[in-house]
Amino acid sequence: MKIVVLDGYTLNPGDLSWAGFEKLGNVTVYDRTEPEEIIPRIGDAEAVIVNKCPISRETMAACPGIRYIGVLATGYNIVDVEAATQRNIIVTNIPTYGTTAVAQMVFAQLLAICHHVEAHSEAVHQGEWNRNPDFCFWNYPLIELAGKTMGVIGFGRIGQNTARIAAALGMRVLAYDQHENEAARQYGEYVPLEKLLAESDVISMHCPLFPSTERMINRDSIAKMKNGVIFINTSRGQLVDEKDLADALNSGKIAAAGLDVVYTEPIRTDNPLLYAKNCFITPHIAWAPLESRKRLMDIASDNLAKFVTGAPVNTVTKR
Ligand code: NAD
Repeated sequence: MKIVVLDGYTLNPGDLSWAGFEKLGNVTVYDRTEPEEIIPRIGDAEAVIVNKCPISRETMAACPGIRYIGVLATGYNIVDVEAATQRNIIVTNIPTYGTTAVAQMVFAQLLAICHHVEAHSEAVHQGEWNRNPDFCFWNYPLIELAGKTMGVIGFGRIGQNTARIAAALGMRVLAYDQHENEAARQYGEYVPLEKLLAESDVISMHCPLFPSTERMINRDSIAKMKNGVIFINTSRGQLVDEKDLADALNSGKIAAAGLDVVYTEPIRTDNPLLYAKNCFITPHIAWAPLESRKRLMDIASDNLAKFVTGAPVNTVTKR
């Protein structure tokens, strides 16, 4: 089987192996593929592996050899699934691989805001401690989380994992989800969104992006939050109206934000959050620890292996 990986670099910049795919066929891996290169690079391949490269109806028509599209991510909106279904092409995704890594990132952001470890270490290396008259100093307010309230919006896999870590730090957890789940009640108290916004000291976003959740954090929802709340978003940048968040950071309504995702990625130079006060931004890395990417790679090659045996798993196409 001819297998083409169109944009393999972010999953495997060189520290993982494509061997799981190589066992299944003749593999060509491209780090990145420009839109006009997609059709010629797929050519007569039967299996196409993609992360963010769009696979449209036109591409499927131009490359009739395609029988399988394996998406190297949870979200598969880059593939025209309806067109794939009509052509009997199986599309698979990776439903879960990074739950623990993303929940850990919530606390990497939150603890950075509470202690400013990097900035304090930098100050020490710059000689500030050596010149200090007292045995210690701090350049930012230091925050203890125990006893504070964590509000989790979207109480699925990552939200519940985040809640468990918050509880271990002594935090009370409030959860908001459209679909309440009995088993999740042990990790947090379900409350209406308004109550969560009003009572949380820290708010962490974990719901998916849908038309109904786009910009759900905006001027109106921010006005309902506590003054001085800390806001964390490791889910999707489009959940937030970035101008409204930047205004709230600059006014102090929101004390600090820790963001792993922004509306348009890579970030644009005119993104107002780049210039907002107390805004910590990482380049969409929550999913990317080696352990998490390895899990993703293993599931992706297993998806193709199962397809080859005629019993596909993790399919998103209707059969
Ligand atoms: P999940 O499906 O287990 O949980 C999502 C939860 O959100 C579900 O319980 C669902 O009922 C709830 N939900 C849906 N609509 C809602 C709404 N309108 N309001 C409130 N809750 C709603 O998903 P997960 O594995 O926990 O992942 C959550 C999100 O994390 C993903 O959608 C993705 O956007 C993001 N993510 C980010 C990274 C990263 O690298 N930063 C990596 C993986 C996932």
